[in-house]
Formats: sequence, structure tokens, C-alpha cells
Amino acid sequence: MTTVESALRADIVEVGRRMYDRRFTASNDGNISVRLGADRLLMTPKSVCKGFMTPDMMCITDLAGKKLQGDRDPSTEMLMHLEVYQQRPDVQAVVHAHPPIATGFAVAGIPLDRPVLAEVLTTLGSIPIAEYATPSTKELPEAVRKYIKAHDGMLLANHGALTVGTDLFAAYYKMETIEHFATISLAARMLGRENLIAREEVLRLQELRGTYGIKSPAPICPDPELPPGPAAGRLDESGAATCQVVQAPEGGGLRLVPDSLQGRSGAGAADGDGEIRLTYRQLSALIRDAVRSVRRD
Ligand SMILES: [Zn+2]
Repeated sequence: MTTVESALRADIVEVGRRMYDRRFTASNDGNISVRLGADRLLMTPKSVCKGFMTPDMMCITDLAGKKLQGDRDPSTEMLMHLEVYQQRPDVQAVVHAHPPIATGFAVAGIPLDRPVLAEVLTTLGSIPIAEYATPSTKELPEAVRKYIKAHDGMLLANHGALTVGTDLFAAYYKMETIEHFATISLAARMLGRENLIAREEVLRLQELRGTYGIKSPAPICPDPELPPGPAAGRLDESGAATCQVVQAPEGGGLRLVPDSLQGRSGAGAADGDGEIRLTYRQLSALIRDAVRSVRRD
């Protein structure tokens, strides 16, 4: 066994342990894979708890999923991993887990598409939800295919989340980022509102990506030359994949957008043309906040 292979086996064990410790997976959930040279993959086996793996448990397959080495069979979600490697030659590793808060968003059908945290915008941009598909069938890679060319991380409807990276830890850290972002988004929405980062600032973050050395395929903001809508992103050569972008508000500074714009319960109510209706109490709170911020200036 090469040094590289034994190091990658140890890294998969470590990532699995962290995923289980952070409750991103329960029981035998989740799976991890990494490229081993140009035409092979090293992958977690099926039916093992990711918190208690050992390096010898891993399987080696070719890029078509044929097992080349290992006492155990590869992950039941292998087809989803193969699809990612086929669509993204730049990707070296794939991580799949069921982190509870992010999966809650995936169950509720709410994508993480609001411009809220600068770090998330630069690394992942908008986080879409791939359509529901039966786990371990070929429907799941089909659902993932729609977004994977443009996104390094996505939610899987009524299932979990998927992240990819240029190395194993990069893919894993994106899973951490998604769960952390989902947790913060949930807290903000429970508090009743989210202050969105304005478009000017989002565009500036998009430019800074290069400076930070971040190569995320999806643009953060819509391409102004395309008609507006969730797919209005700029894509690379193929153009066949769908890209979800954030809808950042115009205007300087932060803008208050109550959660009711999504038509959910909470502060106020919005009708079709985007008008926000607030109760007297909510309106008083907003005025109080505004007066306070004016005094601070
Ligand atoms: Zn799963």
C-alpha cells in the first residue's frame, strides 16, 4: 500500500469520527469517498457506523463502481458519488451526511439561499435543494446532477446534505459550514427576522473570492444578462446544469426582510406584490429599532 493510500484511509476514518461526534450522522448513515489516483476511488463500506471505522474497512472501486479491493461492499450511495466524480473532474472528495438542522431545512423544502453570512457566500454561495429521490437508487444521482456542476454543497430533499471538495477535509468542512449556517439561519428566523446583506456587498464578496483563493463554480449573484429567476446564474461551458443564486436586496447596507416574505408564519404577512403588513406591535418594534439606530449615528 502506498503512503498516499494509507494516509487517505486514515483521513476517511478521522472525517467519519468527526461526522459522528458532531451528530451529522446516526447509526450507519452517511458515506465518504476520495479519488485514489486517476481511475480509482477509496470509499467507506456499507453498513458501518462512521464513528467507529478502521482504515482496513475501506473499499477501492473503479470510476464505474466495480469493486477492485476490500472485504466489504462499497457504500449503498456509491452511485451518487460516481455521478459527482463524472460531472466534476476538479473534485477529489465527496461527503454525504444527515446533519439535523440542515436536513430540517431539506425536509421543510427551504433552501439556504439568503445572503446572510459573508463566509458562506464566498465559500458556498447559495445552497440549493436537490429533488427528493429514493436513497441508493439511480434516481438520487439524477437529482444531484442538476446542481452539482455549479455547486459544491447542496441539500437533498427529505434526506440530508452533500458536499464536495478539492481534498477530503475541504469537502468535510463544507458539510460543517452548511450545518453551522443552517443553525444560525434557524436561530435568526426563530428570533423573527433576518437582515440580508445588500447586493453591492454580495458583489464585492464575489470579487474577493479570487483573493481568498476560493474556487466555487457557482456565482453568488444573478447574471444581469439572464432573465431573473432561481436559475439566473452564469455557468461554465456546458450550460446544462442549473445554478441557484442568492437574491440580494438592492440598496446600501443591510435591509430588513421579515420571514413572512416566504409566506410563513412569523412577523407580519406579505401578499403577492411583496407588500409587508405588520401588526401594531411589530411596527412599534421596528420604529423603536430605527430611532435607536438613528440616535447611535
Ligand atoms: Zn443518506
